[in-house]
Amino acid sequence: MGAGCLAYAVVDPFEEFSQVATAVFQQWLENLRPAIEAEAKPDLRQLSELFSKTRGELLGGCLKAAVEEIYRPILQETKHSCEYCGKVLSRKRMASKRCSTMQGEFELERPYFYCETCKGWAGHPLDIALGLAREHHQYDVQEKMIRLTADLPYELSSKHFERLSGVGLGSHFAHTMLNEVVKYARFSDVIPQTEDIETRINEASHPGKSPPVLVIAIDGAHTPIRPPGGRKDKRGKGEWKETKGVRIYLATSDDRIVHILSWHRNGDKKAFAWDLKRIAAGMPKTDLQVAALADGAPWIWKLVKKYFPAARQVLDYFHCAEHVHKVANEQYADPSAAVEWAEATLVRLSLGRTGEVIGGLRRMKSRNADAREEIRKLIGYIDANRKRLAYDDCKAQGIPKGSGGIESANKYIHHARLKRSGAWWLKPNANGMLLIRCAVYNGTFNRVFDCHVAFQQELLNI
Ligand SMILES: [Zn+2]
Repeated sequence: MGAGCLAYAVVDPFEEFSQVATAVFQQWLENLRPAIEAEAKPDLRQLSELFSKTRGELLGGCLKAAVEEIYRPILQETKHSCEYCGKVLSRKRMASKRCSTMQGEFELERPYFYCETCKGWAGHPLDIALGLAREHHQYDVQEKMIRLTADLPYELSSKHFERLSGVGLGSHFAHTMLNEVVKYARFSDVIPQTEDIETRINEASHPGKSPPVLVIAIDGAHTPIRPPGGRKDKRGKGEWKETKGVRIYLATSDDRIVHILSWHRNGDKKAFAWDLKRIAAGMPKTDLQVAALADGAPWIWKLVKKYFPAARQVLDYFHCAEHVHKVANEQYADPSAAVEWAEATLVRLSLGRTGEVIGGLRRMKSRNADAREEIRKLIGYIDANRKRLAYDDCKAQGIPKGSGGIESANKYIHHARLKRSGAWWLKPNANGMLLIRCAVYNGTFNRVFDCHVAFQQELLNI
């Protein structure tokens, strides 16, 4: 049917769509005939499998019919203005494209134009209008696959994806697409926006109840990183490199944690400083009490002081306890004496009696050189963190003493995907995966993915 005759006919778009879709349906029914008429009756499971296998023919065909109806004017275009010089171009040819969607596969025949005057533009107007991905697998497939592969290894996720959706992708595609999305993802898209953070804070604050404490928790995790180069010959030559994580959450008076944001990246101190600065800049002004929890590293406290000056600094109790137990184990041969001393020491520290603890350590007669060294280190550690102890007072103020909030984020965001057995990551890939996982956890994944789509669409126009 040419464009000419249609111009004179009164077309009801729904009627047109309905006719094509009904024909697709009829064909699909016909294909089911052998199963319906079979001597050996299929059971429910077999029937459901048959529907799963063939629903792409039905839904893919209907989707194609919908596209062709909705975009009929564009599909019938024989003239199109050049996006750059404005010259009216004649259609070069019809070009076909096979599209894979969650509903099934179908082929589109759409007009192709090329500007010979400015040689600046070549393209398919339909692709721009319809939002077609350059790849065979369209954005709906890409989005779901990336979400799945953010939780499961590439190989496994592509297998599950195919089993459940009928769309076969291959693990390489998932890997490529995830990296593609990450490439142009902005930090500001992964971190929730200031207004969203404000909303989360308001939702967690109830009149009549003690206000929550805003907690900034910082901790490291170790990521198995391998050097670039061949996968096989470098295996085992990787190193565990530190990934710094920060999680901001609200600790409510009824001991709940309300997540605000997480950010994890394998990088150096400067990268972490830059990330922390940007996170701090995006935080809304708040009257809430702010606390920062971290281990003893002085450079971390320096950054906390710089970017979160209002935060009450708290040395993570569990890191502190680890140091105390180290001394106990070196100093006391009797394990129960070691535990007794460590517990008494931690109680004193919790009460803020740091001077007393340091005095006791100084007077301690070390059992041997190892014990002497551990005692010396603990004195320095407690002295440097004097103002960050007093856990009992923290408790009274509703401030958590341990960074359980960041530990669980580390487990969920980092370990669950990056520390799978046998996995060694190239640093950019590890950070790409962390970025996507943070986005999922922060509830910002859609924004990150939309940004990818917008960028790809812009490329069609360039
Ligand atoms: Zn042109």
